[in-house]
Amino acid sequence: MTQPLPISIYGAGPAGSALAFLLASKSIAVRLHRWEYRRTLAEETLIPASAQLVQRLGLGRALDSFMESKPLRHGIQWGGEWTWREGDYASPRVARGAFDRVLVEAAVSAGATLIDCQGPPTEQTVRDGGLAVMATGSLTSCRGWTFTEEAQALVPTVALVAMIREDAGTRDSSVIEAVPEGWWWWLPVSEGATMCVLVADANEVRTRGARQVWSAARSHAAGPCHDAPEQNDAGRVATSWRRTSRSVFLAGDAACRLDPLSSQGIEKALASAEQLAAALARGHAHPEELHKLRDFMRRWDAGLFRAHARKTLAFYAAEARFGGAPFWVARHAAAKQVLGGAAPISPSSPLRVSRTIRFVDAYRFVEGELTPHRACAADDDGPALAELGGIPTEMWLALIEGGQTLADAVGKASKHPTFVAQSPAGVARQLGELTRLGFLSSD
Ligand SMILES: Cc1cc2nc3c(=O)[nH]c(=O)nc-3n(C[C@H](O)[C@H](O)[C@H](O)COP(=O)(O)OP(=O)(O)OC[C@H]3O[C@@H](n4cnc5c(N)ncnc54)[C@H](O)[C@@H]3O)c2cc1C
Repeated sequence: MTQPLPISIYGAGPAGSALAFLLASKSIAVRLHRWEYRRTLAEETLIPASAQLVQRLGLGRALDSFMESKPLRHGIQWGGEWTWREGDYASPRVARGAFDRVLVEAAVSAGATLIDCQGPPTEQTVRDGGLAVMATGSLTSCRGWTFTEEAQALVPTVALVAMIREDAGTRDSSVIEAVPEGWWWWLPVSEGATMCVLVADANEVRTRGARQVWSAARSHAAGPCHDAPEQNDAGRVATSWRRTSRSVFLAGDAACRLDPLSSQGIEKALASAEQLAAALARGHAHPEELHKLRDFMRRWDAGLFRAHARKTLAFYAAEARFGGAPFWVARHAAAKQVLGGAAPISPSSPLRVSRTIRFVDAYRFVEGELTPHRACAADDDGPALAELGGIPTEMWLALIEGGQTLADAVGKASKHPTFVAQSPAGVARQLGELTRLGFLSSD
């Protein structure tokens, strides 16, 4: 039997540190390489679902003080009237420097070895370090070595930023406000400072100039960003899914970067660590399965990105006041493409099973562990489905074998004992879902 490889994690942000903690807690030898290459934001917010995840990962005690921090009132102007959620909405703020340090300490206490680095690793170092995980956030290459490529991305976006140092009025509230040029984010941060971010369209900023876009957006704001000072910082916001052709694993933002509108980046970095810890624990015990586990994680990252893209674009589509503005035109077009493609299948239209359907080795995630199972996939990056509605995927596909109309398939199911618990509408819905996922096509 092959010896388990040591695991080296590059990047000590939330994804890398939580992964190191989880692996070390399973008594797996792990080295966490820390290198501060990027300045993180002073403060970010955590969505309420993070509390449950933090507990489940066993990080509750380490992160207690952050989870209990006093939440802000949350104001939103999106598509119409202002709405306010009071501070009972448990959306804690975390000072990123302190948050990241506590996670690193938790990993080290659990047995991970921390290595402070002066710079990024060479390709050779990564190769020699055993099983490598790139948890490097937005860094996608180091020392001429590119380890990820963009597989899919939403509309190019930039964040224009101004920090307000003096006392800045609304300090008990975070505010999100849609304007023709994009959306404003007002976020008071800990050291008496407030961050004003304009999330704008990259192409519009390139043609009109940042100063012009910033000033127009400020004049359109009815909330606190109306008084924003001059913009003094900018960064690209890449809502994207990245994959790798190297024999490394990717974690957190290195694999899937979310739109800041969702405030879910840290939560998803922790969720990615949980999933990857299970995959690496399996790979540690069964090194011969590593390529299957990489395939499994690629599909997981792609699934996360697609689910996130659908949710985010639906939110952008809900703001209909600024139809002709470039920011909204681009996002509404993307929403139409991603959300609007699935026209209802007519009962008389013929359905066909995709020619690319194949069986793949997949895994089921149960209570922190992966167990192998066989599933159907329609392509390399789409979901691997073992079942749908409790019925094996191949049974659903058998309903369509040889080409059937939706009405024929529903009739066939009504006579088949496997589908006894499914209503005709339920059968039609599941076949519609298989069509959306590319397992079936309708003419
Ligand atoms: C404008 C903006 C606002 C945001 N607001 C929120 C918010 O309110 N709430 C939220 O949940 N999320 C927010 N996010 C997203 C969140 O910051 C990220 O999703 C999260 O930090 C991802 O964690 P990570 O560990 O994957 O990456 P990172 O936090 O980027 O950590 C990666 C770490 O790896 C280090 N590194 C890079 N290369 C190497 C190397 N070769 N070797 C060693 N170390 C390396 C980097 O220095 C960094 O410390 C926001 C993002 C942006 C851009």
